[in-house]
Amino acid sequence: MLSQSDQKVCYADEKLSTWFEELSLPVAPLCNMMCNYCTKEKDCINNGNNPAHLSRAMTPRQAVNWAYASAKRNSRIKTIRISGPGEPLYNSQTFEVLKRLNSCMPDYIYGISTNGLLLDELVKELKELNVQKVNVSLNAVSNLALMKLYSRIIVNNEIIVNSEAMATRIIESQFNGMKKCMDSDMSVKVNTIYFPGINDRELLSVASRCKELGVKSMCLIIFNPRGKFKGLRIPNPTEIAFMREELKKIIKRVEVKSFV
Ligand code: SF4
Repeated sequence: MLSQSDQKVCYADEKLSTWFEELSLPVAPLCNMMCNYCTKEKDCINNGNNPAHLSRAMTPRQAVNWAYASAKRNSRIKTIRISGPGEPLYNSQTFEVLKRLNSCMPDYIYGISTNGLLLDELVKELKELNVQKVNVSLNAVSNLALMKLYSRIIVNNEIIVNSEAMATRIIESQFNGMKKCMDSDMSVKVNTIYFPGINDRELLSVASRCKELGVKSMCLIIFNPRGKFKGLRIPNPTEIAFMREELKKIIKRVEVKSFV
């Protein structure tokens, strides 16, 4: 069962101090990517979840009951997001939950967090399910950096191992998907993990390319990586503050989420 800490408090605009609460539903157990900083033993960090948590995936029925009870208890909940514990778009449960929520809780804002690999082909379906907010994890734009970050992906039941083809597929799906979301009036936010020596030189390019699409919000994520990246140095506070200021010259809103 979810704890209070699983309800994320989101700051929409720090200066105005307007805020709302977001309920995160873990209904998606499987993932179609292998990120080198993840072991899949905990919740998906790409999607901005706390990497210390291991949420057991709820069944669609449990998730809808939980959403209904939580919203009744807490009137500040405005957004319900499917964000893990694996990749939401790779699991049919995500669509089943959204369908059920639409019929019993139609006045809420729905969101998903995704690694973007299937976004390009599923925007229409998400729109039909009333999804208004999409968070996409986007950590690099060059093939070189993408090949450092990811080991393999699954596309159409086939594994594409670390290669230029894998990198191209990731970036095309993510950017085509984000463009379609923007064209469909969905709001897009980008989650980017900051790894010194791996993607630090990419972050401004990530922000610039997202800005070209009209993205206005970015979340810079800091955490202690696992898997192949275990032991990698995490950025220090000065580096984080500097990077945030540089990113803010490009993207209007840049928040930092640190799990260290
Ligand atoms: S997308 Fe990456 S970080 Fe998220 S669960 Fe899959 S492998 Fe882990």
